Amino acid sequence: MTVSITLVQGDITRQRVDALVNAANSSLLGGGGVDGAIHRRGGPEILADCRRLRASLPKGLPTGRAVATVAGKLDARHVIHTVGPVWSATEDRSELLASCHREALRVAAELGARTVAFPAISTGVYRWPLDDAARVAVRTVREAADPARFDEVRFVLFDQAAYDAFAKALAAADR
Ligand code: ADP
Repeated sequence: MTVSITLVQGDITRQRVDALVNAANSSLLGGGGVDGAIHRRGGPEILADCRRLRASLPKGLPTGRAVATVAGKLDARHVIHTVGPVWSATEDRSELLASCHREALRVAAELGARTVAFPAISTGVYRWPLDDAARVAVRTVREAADPARFDEVRFVLFDQAAYDAFAKALAAADR
């Protein structure tokens, strides 16, 4: 049996889930894209918690790792921050992208979060091609999410192109 994976097109900050995943940067101190949207809607408590975590991570959160904070005003209990790799045409960094998904799920399971929402990590400012990012994300979640521990893993895709890429990856994985 594999975990239930769902896709929605929309804004991750509007989701009601136990945990939502932030495509953060290693500073953990805010950025654009998903990160900016989460801090804007979630309010200052999330950033305050990030600052506390930063105190024990002087060099920041390494790529491929994940940590959790409160979710402030979001309709979630936790935000799990992970740092995706920047796309490279010359170096295969897909193991780091897979690691983001695995580590976020590991943290979610530790917190007892049974519904988890992911954005399309690395596909914005970090420029990872959508089809490839979708393939890595879907494959990793299918392999790593124990269906006994998660009710739903939801990918929240901001636009039609991202939705289509994930739908294609999911259909290919189900074959
Ligand atoms: P990264 O730096 O990992 O590339 P970004 O936040 O720049 O992260 O983008 C990751 C993906 O999230 C992109 O596909 C972008 O279109 C999408 N995105 C941006 N804002 C939101 C949002 N509010 N909800 C869901 N997805 C979003």
